Amino acid sequence: MSTSIENILNELKKVLKEDQVSINLTVRELHSKDESYHETCLPDIVVFPKNTNEVSEIMKLANHYQIPVVPFGRGSSLEGHIIPYDNGITIDFSLMDKILEVRENDLLVKVQPGVTRSQLNKELKKYGLFFSVDPGADATLGGMAATNASGTTTVKYGVMRDQVRDLEVVLADGTFIHTGNLAAKSASGFHLNGLFVGSEGTLGCFTELTLRVYGIPEFTTAARAVFPSVQSAVEAVTSILQTGIPIARVELVDEESIRQVNRFSETNYVESPTLFLEFDGNEAGLKQDVEFTKEIMEDHGCVDIQFETDNTARTKLWDARHNLAYAYIHGNVGKKMMVTDVCVPISELADAVVYARNELSSIGLIGGLTGHVGDGNFHAILMIDMTDAAEVAKAESFNEKIVHYALERNGTCTGEHGVGIGKQKYQALEHGAALQVMEKIKIALDPNNILNPQKILNIES
Ligand SMILES: Cc1cc2nc3c(=O)[nH]c(=O)nc-3n(C[C@H](O)[C@H](O)[C@H](O)COP(=O)(O)OP(=O)(O)OC[C@H]3O[C@@H](n4cnc5c(N)ncnc54)[C@H](O)[C@@H]3O)c2cc1C
Repeated sequence: MSTSIENILNELKKVLKEDQVSINLTVRELHSKDESYHETCLPDIVVFPKNTNEVSEIMKLANHYQIPVVPFGRGSSLEGHIIPYDNGITIDFSLMDKILEVRENDLLVKVQPGVTRSQLNKELKKYGLFFSVDPGADATLGGMAATNASGTTTVKYGVMRDQVRDLEVVLADGTFIHTGNLAAKSASGFHLNGLFVGSEGTLGCFTELTLRVYGIPEFTTAARAVFPSVQSAVEAVTSILQTGIPIARVELVDEESIRQVNRFSETNYVESPTLFLEFDGNEAGLKQDVEFTKEIMEDHGCVDIQFETDNTARTKLWDARHNLAYAYIHGNVGKKMMVTDVCVPISELADAVVYARNELSSIGLIGGLTGHVGDGNFHAILMIDMTDAAEVAKAESFNEKIVHYALERNGTCTGEHGVGIGKQKYQALEHGAALQVMEKIKIALDPNNILNPQKILNIES
C-alpha cells in the first residue's frame, strides 16, 4: 500500500465509521468489474457513505491527496464505467438508499442515489404512480442518471435526462450544488441537469435526485407480433411512429434471441423476428390505436399477432424481454457478453439492422439482435470466449463496423449504455471540436482529474 493510500485510509477512518471503510479483498474484487468483457482492476479502498456530508468529506480528502475516486451504483454498466483503472477509492452508494419524498401533486420524487428502479416503483405503486425508465438490470437511480439510461418505455416517456428535475452533486473539491429546481420548466442559467446527467461519475457524485413520475395508466395492452424478417419488423415500427400512434413500448427481438428467451424464460414463442409492443392510456383511445397498429403491421407482412391484456401474461412478456441478456449469459457459461448499442435516425434503422444482422451471421459467433427500435436504438449481443484471441478480434471488429455505420449516418456510438472505457476511442470521431469543449469543462470542474479518470475523455493527470 502506497504512503498516500495509507494516509487517506487513516483520514477516512476519522470521518466514517469502521464498517463504512473497507480494504477487504473480496469487497475490492466486487468493485473491480462491471457486467462487461472489459479487463478488471482493483480499487485500493471501498467506502460506503450514508449522507451528502460524508461524500463531501471523502471528496475533500481525495482531492487533497489527489487520489482517484469512482462512484459506484450497482455495477451493472456495460462499458467498464466503474472499473478503477487508476485504483484509488470506490464510493459505493448502496447505503444511500432512501426514498426521501413523494410529491404526489407535483408528480415528483426525491431519492438518494442508491435507490434502485424496482425499489422506487414498489413504493410509487402505493400512490398510483410509476417511474418510467427501465434498463434491463435493476440499476440504481444514481447510476442511471450518470449514464443517461433508457429502456423499453423511452419511445413514449423519454430517457433519464428527461426525468431529472434536480440533482444534488458533490464536486471534486467537496463543495455541493443543486443543478435544477422543482419547476416544470426554467429558462434560468446554463442547463446543468443536462450536463451532469450522462457524465458517468467524471464531473461529480450525485447525492440526491429529484425525478419526474407518472400516473399508472388506466389500461394497458401488450402484444407479440411475428414477422418473416427483421427488416419487415423494423419497417413496420417506422410506419407506426410516422403515423404518430403513441406507442408505449416497441422492442425488436430477433430469431436467435427468441430462442434464448424460450430456453431461459420457459416460454413457447414462435422462433421468428418478433416485436414486443405495449399501448397504454384510456380504454377507448387505446382500442383505436391497437386496431390501427395491427393494420400497419399486417401491411408489412406480420404473420401472427397475439395480445396479452391480463397482468400475468403481460408481466411474463416483459420479464422475458428484460431477462434477455441474462438468457444469453446463462445459456453460454464461460463466455463474456459484448453488447453494441448504437442509435441511428429512425429512417436509417431498417437498413442498419439488416446490415448488423448480415455482419453478425458472417462472423459465426453466438449472438443476436434486439433493441428499443422505437428510438432507433438496437443491440447486438455477442457471447465471446475471452481466452480465444481470434474470437475477441472478430467481435471487436464487428462492434467497430456497427459503430462506424451509425456514425456515418449521423447516429451515435452509444444510445444508452454510455462511453466508459469501451466507446472512448470513438469520441473524437463523433464529437469533433466539441470534444475539446467537454475536456475544458472536465478540467474546470475537476482540475486534479480525480473523478473516474480515463472514462469518456482521455485527460492526462
Ligand atoms: C442485463 C443488462 C441489461 C441492461 N439494459 C440496459 C438498458 O436497457 N438501458 C440502459 O440504459 N442500460 C442498460 N444496461 C446498462 C446499465 O444497467 C445501466 O448503464 C445503468 O444505468 C447502470 O446503473 P448502475 O446503478 O449499475 O451504475 P454503475 O454501473 O454502478 O455505474 C455506472 C456509471 O455511473 C456512475 N455513477 C454511479 N453512481 C453514481 C452517483 N451516485 N453519482 C455519480 N456517478 C455515479 C459510475 O461512476 C459509472 O460511471 C443493462 C445492463 C445489463 C447488465
